[in-house]
Amino acid sequence: MTECRTAALIVAAGLGKRAGLERPKQFAPIGGKPVIAHSVDAFAAAPAIGAIWVVAGEEQLQEMQAALAGRGVAGLVAGGATRRESVRNGLIAIEAAGGAELVLIHDAARPGLGPAVIHRLIAALERHPGAVPVLPVADTLARAEGHLGGVADRDGLVRVQTPQAFRFDAILAAHRAWQGPEPTDDAQMLRAAGGTVDMVEGDPRLQKLTFPGDIERMEAVLTSSWSVRTGTGFDVHRFEAGRPLMLCGIHVPHAQGLAGHSDADVALHALTDALLGAMAEGDIGSHFPPTDARWKNADSASFVEHARDLLAARGGSLTHVDLTIICEAPKIGPHREAMRARIAQLLRVEPERISVKATTTERLGFTGRGEGIAAQAIATIRIPDL
Ligand code: MG
Repeated sequence: MTECRTAALIVAAGLGKRAGLERPKQFAPIGGKPVIAHSVDAFAAAPAIGAIWVVAGEEQLQEMQAALAGRGVAGLVAGGATRRESVRNGLIAIEAAGGAELVLIHDAARPGLGPAVIHRLIAALERHPGAVPVLPVADTLARAEGHLGGVADRDGLVRVQTPQAFRFDAILAAHRAWQGPEPTDDAQMLRAAGGTVDMVEGDPRLQKLTFPGDIERMEAVLTSSWSVRTGTGFDVHRFEAGRPLMLCGIHVPHAQGLAGHSDADVALHALTDALLGAMAEGDIGSHFPPTDARWKNADSASFVEHARDLLAARGGSLTHVDLTIICEAPKIGPHREAMRARIAQLLRVEPERISVKATTTERLGFTGRGEGIAAQAIATIRIPDL
């Protein structure tokens, strides 16, 4: 494999007990998507980041894989007993895959990552082997000694956040050379190895999820600028003998299939248009022109996945889909649960968010005459405002 210029390494191996959760906090939903997915999506949306690596606890690898499925992660690495070991495992995995020139090491428990901090960190690495985002200390710092103790001098103190950015070879060498007690972060290891660490402006939204209530507060912060949007889709395909009938991504046994350039899954086409419509991203024909030979007999699931990935790249999440299939035959009822499950799988959401309904047109019109199948869909999403 070849070296990637800038890699992101997200550490999500902690158990998050302090946040008062039953599940590790990296899987807790914020705005309808897992905490870890917020950081992955933020790095994925940054053009400078070439590959995203995630370190998860050994016993959480499967759950992590499910949480990240479809998100374009270069590698999932098993963590170690400490944060330091987990980062080291990740760095070694990146090296084994061809290495990187720069790496941004980030804690999954800080989901409020935005493009500005990523940009500032990478720019700082032109002058220094390391850079961290910092914020001033605004509150008075005092010792707690049962009652209030003396005030600590906050002059010259900063709060250090992640991502922490490094020249890859420098931080890997620092990790290999480390012999002290457990360090608080990677920047201190680079300093111990003699490297200078630049400070760039941090972001209050990068606050770490630590205490009970932090998740709710972060949800309010991160979704305050999100809007709820809806999109509709409608499609029709005529019946054609000799083709399999695909509906909602599953094969439905029937005397005839539907005519079309792709696999003619009328339901997934309506769904794709609803998703694109909610994002104001054009329509299925503009993304997958029927004149393009690439989409001949294409599995329409790939159209839905494309729309899903666009939504992830925009940092949004799917709230709900309601899909109606309009035909006299075949009967949809026996296939409804399989259809919901398939769509939920394609969109990486719970089946409870997917509704599949069916109706006839009382033998009126083209669907009533059994000439074809129509489908309409409405998708509801939550998406950060521009
Ligand atoms: Mg169509």
